[in-house]
Amino acid sequence: MIDLSHIEKIYDSPSGPVRAIKDISLHINRGEIYGIIGLSGAGKSTLVRCINLLERPTSGKVTVDGQDITAMSESQLRQARKSIGMIFQHFNLLSSATVYENVAFPLRLVNTPKEKIDKKVTELLELVGLADKANQYPSQLSGGQKQRVGIARALASEPKILLCDEATSALDPQTTKAILQLIRDINAKLKLTVVVITHEMQVIKDICDKVAVIDKGVIAEKGKVLDVFTN
Ligand code: ADP
Ligand code: ADP
Repeated sequence: MIDLSHIEKIYDSPSGPVRAIKDISLHINRGEIYGIIGLSGAGKSTLVRCINLLERPTSGKVTVDGQDITAMSESQLRQARKSIGMIFQHFNLLSSATVYENVAFPLRLVNTPKEKIDKKVTELLELVGLADKANQYPSQLSGGQKQRVGIARALASEPKILLCDEATSALDPQTTKAILQLIRDINAKLKLTVVVITHEMQVIKDICDKVAVIDKGVIAEKGKVLDVFTN
């Protein structure tokens, strides 16, 4: 589903070039929950932006769902981005819009007919357990509920990949467990490929099948979670 082959990313900065990621190769299978863990500065955000097609690697090849991203035009990239849903640490909800409108937002952007939006949003709010919160505003919700809205919104355009960028880092341990359980349920139910970026080992242990440990821009270790984290 996702294939990174020898990717490298070099940023220009006033103090000279910064090699944020050096030689990363990763293969993520369809339906897998794949964790990427590393300390701050390890290169996780850069890697995320290469996977969600917001950044082109300086060298190497990125293939998502059989398409060679590195060779695409901007308009092809915009199209391909629709197959990737993202959730974030700080949820990134629209504060002046209701839960319903937040989830409907990506559908409105592509002029989806109203009836179809209604059906989809209702279905998604049910999936994430927020059917009764449709008319509330983000400020009226708990952190866990906000992330549920984020998940529903990410799924609205029926992506094949769900990219979770520190998605539980702002939540308490109990809420984290519940959100991870929801992500696991969605992975099973919708056969989504899930990529989990985190600095927390427990998150990886809780839901990931496989993991890559990144350190200073390179993969220090990768494999099945049980193999990597037992010794
Ligand atoms: P992480 O998400 O793991 O904290 P990042 O990918 O944000 O890591 O950063 C990796 C390295 O690349 C860091 O040294 C960071 O300072 C550098 N870096 C990230 N983005 C840029 C940029 N736009 N310009 C210059 N350096 C950057
Ligand atoms: P995080 O690791 O939590 O994503 P960072 O503080 O590493 O946050 O990065 C926040 C933003 O700043 C990112 O978009 C990243 O690309 C950019 N950035 C990080 N380091 C640098 C840097 N040295 N120079 C320029 N931009 C940077």
